[in-house]
Amino acid sequence: MRLPSRAVDLFAALLSPPRCAACDAAVPFLRAFCAACAATCLPPDDGPVRATGAYGGAMATAISRLKFGGRPDVAVPLGDLLDAAAGALDVDAIVPVPLGRERLRERGYNQAALLGARVGRARGLPQETSWLRRARESAPQATLGRAARARNVAGAFAASPACRGARVVLVDDVVTTGATLRAAEEALEEAGARVIGGLAVAVALLDGDAPEVPLAATRAPSEPARRDARALLAHDR
Ligand SMILES: [Zn+2]
Repeated sequence: MRLPSRAVDLFAALLSPPRCAACDAAVPFLRAFCAACAATCLPPDDGPVRATGAYGGAMATAISRLKFGGRPDVAVPLGDLLDAAAGALDVDAIVPVPLGRERLRERGYNQAALLGARVGRARGLPQETSWLRRARESAPQATLGRAARARNVAGAFAASPACRGARVVLVDDVVTTGATLRAAEEALEEAGARVIGGLAVAVALLDGDAPEVPLAATRAPSEPARRDARALLAHDR
């Protein structure tokens, strides 16, 4: 018998109490942020991408910990927020935006896949991590202005024929100009999939043509963090 995932979560929460995604303060079950951090989170602007909030405040801190701080466990509260923001999803599968091989090796996990696994687990939807891959390495989008972003990711993705005929939703951590999601969508649609939209934890506004986030040095995840990441990905497949 498989326990409902919420019951498993509750049990896990009793063993290790939930922590704020930005500052590690203890939080009630099913809360991503403590009250002080939650007060700094802003709702997203309207747009084609469903997101839990605007990039900034504690949300930016939490995402930075997930991506650069060796903290894959932060994908749990953020993934739950994303699931709550996603609304109805009439899709066959979730496809996370892939990392290049170099970046994956450096980080130890793909944060988008950790978030997607969490949403898939809550919805009973499969996540297909092999349907989309980076055809080439590209510079981190956060280092680039608006015009350079589209050039940077054009043709950066290749999709597997296995996705033909499937309705999919793309998942990423932060969406800014949407250039990455558009390039990913193009590759999937060329291979015969139908992309119904994108999910992102946060939507960032690009101020003029300047990069919006200073690039943090990636901290390599510890062995327990790598185990966390593997456990998060090993959801019911
Ligand atoms: Zn906090």
